Amino acid sequence: MSDQTFATPFLPEDKALACVHCGLCLGACPTYLETGNENDSPRGRIYLMRAVAEGRVSAEAAREHVDLCLGCRACETACPSGVQYGALLEVTRQHLEREVSRSFIPAAIRRVLIDRVFPFRERMDLALAPARLIKRLGLEKWLPGFARDPLKLLPMDMKRAELPEESPARGRFRGRVGFVSGCVMDVMFGETHRNSVMLLNAAGFDVVTPASQGCCGALHAHSGNLEEARILARKNIVAFDEADVDRIVINAAGCGSTLKEYGHLLACDAEWAESGRKFSARVRDLSEFLVEEGFDKQLQPRAGEGSVTFHDACHLAHPQKITRQPRDLVKAVAGDRFVEMPESDVCCGSAGSYNLTEPEMAARLQQRKVGNIRASGALTVVTTNPGCLLQIAAGLRDSTGLDVEALHIADYLARALRG
Ligand code: SF4
Ligand code: SF4
Repeated sequence: MSDQTFATPFLPEDKALACVHCGLCLGACPTYLETGNENDSPRGRIYLMRAVAEGRVSAEAAREHVDLCLGCRACETACPSGVQYGALLEVTRQHLEREVSRSFIPAAIRRVLIDRVFPFRERMDLALAPARLIKRLGLEKWLPGFARDPLKLLPMDMKRAELPEESPARGRFRGRVGFVSGCVMDVMFGETHRNSVMLLNAAGFDVVTPASQGCCGALHAHSGNLEEARILARKNIVAFDEADVDRIVINAAGCGSTLKEYGHLLACDAEWAESGRKFSARVRDLSEFLVEEGFDKQLQPRAGEGSVTFHDACHLAHPQKITRQPRDLVKAVAGDRFVEMPESDVCCGSAGSYNLTEPEMAARLQQRKVGNIRASGALTVVTTNPGCLLQIAAGLRDSTGLDVEALHIADYLARALRG
């Protein structure tokens, strides 16, 4: 991800050349599964990225296929050659953002909503005020499609978390951790945040939520705005250094993946590279941390609520390679009511802001996910990322004859603890 290591105009050559074109990643790629087009596969996209870097293909010609990539990084998990696809994608997107001009609505979504609204809690809260009113009054059906579809994703009950800066451990004191409240999550998933802190307290940890922290920069990094992502990373490093905590816990898989890559993001900045690496080493996903601390052993199986399944958020399963820990926690409560769904680690189409920028493919993947949940027979689907939760819940609401509840893992566990 460092700007200073590129041998070609923008692409790190060693990373691009690592692909041997074997095609073993094709079956793992959600967009290839849907379109069957080699240009929409990891192998095809890497070929296009190199062709753009070497001047054989124009940035404009490659844009459509690079834009359609979810950034889910399932191809990294499948690749036997260790190709770092995520790093290639980020620098390619940065290059395309500089080279390609977009029409008004896609440009406004990227440069205004993603860069200037989502990462700021106050602006996000303000922007959501009319959405809350429209939903409460049931007026969505009168809106044009481009405004109605994003509104359908929003939950009915959007409340800010308003977390205290310090929340004390319950029972035997085990330590002190920092909590990342972030931006979108803090404004829309207040209950999930409060439940996450309650679980950490129940596990014996004081929780510090620094007021000076902010957005992790994931949305910027994924859309090619690496400079803004670095500014946000430096702000968070300072906030959590001042909090003086051993571990930094996050309950959003997409943000956690970016926080764990601050070391790479800041590798080009001599002053911040070491702080970035140290920060990333302290970050843990909520499920990863709770299992590391043996919290799954404190949970009791509960009977009689129908079967439960688990959707792997891409950025937990692929970049972070965490699939066992959330299942251990869910199974500790669900016992033999736990069932696996088919394709549990195929992207649901949320992918950060993808369902705004590529609504058609997002809808196809949403339907694919709902079909797999239906096939599992589960009445509850648990996941670890707010974007997946919105996308899956909206898909379930739209599906006739399906009464399935989608829950964040923190809410699922908190409900079990409260009995
Ligand atoms: S990141 Fe996901 S969508 Fe993009 S090429 Fe890899 S597997 Fe396909
Ligand atoms: S990315 Fe990996 S799995 Fe895919 S074609 Fe290249 S070397 Fe093969």
